[in-house]
Amino acid sequence: MFEKILIANRGEIAVRILRACKDLGIQTVSVYSTADKDAMHVKMADESVCIGPPQSKESYLNIPSIIAACEVSGAEAVHPGYGFLSENASFVEKLNAHNINFIGPKSDHIKTMGDKILAKKTAEKYGLPVIPGSNGEVKDFKDARSIARDIGYPIIIKASAGGGGRGMVVVRNEKELEESIKRAKSEADKSFDNDTVYIEKYLQNPKHIEVQIIGDNYGNMIHLGERDCSMQRRNQKLLEETPSKIINEKTRDYIGNLTVDALKKIKYSGAGTVEYLFENNEFYFMEMNTRLQVEHPVTEEITNFDLVKEQIRIASNSKLSKNQDDINFYGHSIECRVNAEDPESFMPSPGKVINFHAPGGPGVRVDSGCYSGITIPPYYDSMIAKLIVYGENRESCIARLERALEEFVVEGIKTTIPFYQKILKEESFLNGNYDIHWVENYMENI
Ligand code: ADP
Repeated sequence: MFEKILIANRGEIAVRILRACKDLGIQTVSVYSTADKDAMHVKMADESVCIGPPQSKESYLNIPSIIAACEVSGAEAVHPGYGFLSENASFVEKLNAHNINFIGPKSDHIKTMGDKILAKKTAEKYGLPVIPGSNGEVKDFKDARSIARDIGYPIIIKASAGGGGRGMVVVRNEKELEESIKRAKSEADKSFDNDTVYIEKYLQNPKHIEVQIIGDNYGNMIHLGERDCSMQRRNQKLLEETPSKIINEKTRDYIGNLTVDALKKIKYSGAGTVEYLFENNEFYFMEMNTRLQVEHPVTEEITNFDLVKEQIRIASNSKLSKNQDDINFYGHSIECRVNAEDPESFMPSPGKVINFHAPGGPGVRVDSGCYSGITIPPYYDSMIAKLIVYGENRESCIARLERALEEFVVEGIKTTIPFYQKILKEESFLNGNYDIHWVENYMENI
């Protein structure tokens, strides 16, 4: 097992990883930008190293600075969290060249899954169902037109290098197509420095269902069930829950095993999530995230399985600690992403948190780097806390969520807490009857 780990991230996820390290008796090193000098992840670590100015490019994405921080601190491994360098294959290669372990999959798997076209082809080759669309890159309008005529409108144009819900253009009819292809390519080029796009059928009322897997370096792999992440706004997840109201045990086994079989064939190791759209009882592969996800705690709550500890164990070459038969699902869990944003307009609301009081009590977990007096910098993601609630069933979980949201106090900045309180009053949410377009089609119009 490692003796010292460097956490190449900030905010709640850095705190989450620090906690796992402490549970395992591992020494910790935090890195921080000058904007984060008073951050919780800096205070909690055994050592911390400043890696640059506020802009991510010059700090949390600055590979030479992070490698230098490993060398001065003597850290043997890096946990990248999510975002930043977590899906950067060249970072993994550079760490390995310096004899530093990366807590995550091999660089080849990051490369394959990070290119959405290649990921889709790989998924199809190994038996996962995919969304009908172009079989690879779409070069121009003519190319696009013939594919769109084949699969029928509406279609979605997606950037092969896309991520974070960006780089997607929906096209409703042929009249919009030429203009949309140009726009999608130019946006992809600007955002991701790569103008490769592809086309998929645009599903009208799907649920977003994803499967958590974890595998070791000896060919063992398990799945930990699904998460329903259909509560989204502009393709960004807001609330996640497990189990999904629409997935029964048989379907869970089916998609879990199918996912594990496919990933075993490519010898994947580490934690990962395969994201599917689910419509009319059919799954369609969308993409794979080769890292820990924001919403991993809901899975931990219902399986009693610590994903971060297991990631660390696997990276240090231990075998998976559990077999598929050891994994049981108990109760229900829901996570709300609390963002420093206006709850009506979703405009960012950084600034000083005058008072922060997290809810507690049975079945309530808050993963956050926030405390009274901290200043939320404007440079990074606006998520400041995750409220994760557990209940014996969905109803008791929702009741607890309501109680926890009421107890949650954040003063000085605006947060999305009131938005979740509004959602809890909606019949469609209470019935589990919502899809990926529900927030935009319904919540934003009431
Ligand atoms: P990203 O990597 O940017 O998160 P994804 O491919 O995971 O991109 O897609 C993000 C979201 O976009 C999905 O959760 C879904 O809401 C929507 N989406 C993507 N592809 C389709 C599609 N073919 N039809 C309908 N919605 C889609």
